Amino acid sequence: MHVQPYDQGLHLEPRDQAAHDDAANRPGRASALRRWFDTSDAGDASRGHAASVADDRIDWVRALPFLGMHLACLGVLWVGVSWFAMGVAVALYAVRMFAITGFYHRYFSHRTFRTSRALQFVFALIGAASVQRGPLWWAAQHRNHHRHADLPQDPHSPRHGFWRSHAGWFLTRAGFHTDWSRIPDLARYPELRWLDRFDTVVPVALAVALYLLGVALERWAPALGTTGPQLLVWGFFVSTVVLFHATVTINSLAHRFGTRRFETRDDSRNNGWLALITFGEGWHNNHHFFPGSARQGFRWWELDLTWYGLRAMAALGLVHDLKPVPAWVHAHARERARR
Ligand SMILES: [Zn+2]
Ligand SMILES: [Zn+2]
Repeated sequence: MHVQPYDQGLHLEPRDQAAHDDAANRPGRASALRRWFDTSDAGDASRGHAASVADDRIDWVRALPFLGMHLACLGVLWVGVSWFAMGVAVALYAVRMFAITGFYHRYFSHRTFRTSRALQFVFALIGAASVQRGPLWWAAQHRNHHRHADLPQDPHSPRHGFWRSHAGWFLTRAGFHTDWSRIPDLARYPELRWLDRFDTVVPVALAVALYLLGVALERWAPALGTTGPQLLVWGFFVSTVVLFHATVTINSLAHRFGTRRFETRDDSRNNGWLALITFGEGWHNNHHFFPGSARQGFRWWELDLTWYGLRAMAALGLVHDLKPVPAWVHAHARERARR
C-alpha cells in the first residue's frame, strides 16, 4: 500500500489515492464491527503501517455506537425523570470526570504523582467507564497532542476545524489505533493492556448494573420513583454523553477561547468556564506551559477541583509525590504580568 504522512492526509484527498486505499481496506467492514468489542482487531492502521489518506476519513461503521449513545439520550422523552436518577447522573459525571482528569490525564499521561498498582487499576476502570477508550490509548493520544500541539500531526487541533478537534479525530481509522511507541511505561502492565483491548467491557457492565439497580429500586423502593430504563438513560447515556462533550471542549474550545498567561508554541488558553465543568482542565495554557505539575490552576483563585481531590487522596495516603508548580514558573508568570 502506498503510504502518505498523516499530516498530508488531513488536507489533501486525491480521489485516485482514496480509491486505492479503499481497495486495500475492503476487509475492514467486518473488522470494524469486531472492533466494537476487541480493539486488538484494529485492522490496517494498527498493524504498524503509517497512516494513509483513507485512515484519515471517519470510519462510520465503528462510529455507530457513538452516534447511538447520542440518540439513546432521547429516551428521556419516554422514561421520565426522578430526583434519584438525576442524582445518579450527576454523581457518575463527577466520579468519572475526576478519573479522567486526575488519572487518565494527570497520572497516566503526565505521571505527575504516584500511587499503588491496585489504585492505578481502580481508577483506570472508573476512567474506562467513561467510554473514552482505555488508559493506554488515551495517554498515547494525549502525549502526541503535547508533542505536536497545534501542528499538523496534533491529533485534535482546532486548526483542523472545530468538529475534527471535538469528535472527528478519534472516529477515523488513524485515530482508533493506540500508538504504543508513546507509552512504554504504561504498556508493561498486563491489566492495563487488557483494559485497552476490551475497552467496552466496563461501560457495558455499568449500563447493565444501572438497569438492574433501577429494576430493583422500582420493586423494593418505589418511593424513589425510578425504573430500570430511567436509570439506564439518565445514569448511563445522558451522563456519559455530557461527560464526553465536556471533556473534549479542552481540545476544541480551550485552544481557542480564553486568555494566554504564557507564550506557548501552541494556541492553548486559560478558560474559567471550561475549568469549572472539567474540574480544572480549563487552565489549559498553564498546563501546556508546564504539564509536569499535578495542579493546573496555578493561582489560588483558579478553581481546580481535581487538584483538591488529589490533595484529599494524598492526605488519606492513597496517592503521593504530587508534583507542585515550580517557583520559577510562578516567577515567570509574575514577570509576564508586569510587562
Ligand atoms: Zn491542549
Ligand atoms: Zn496534558
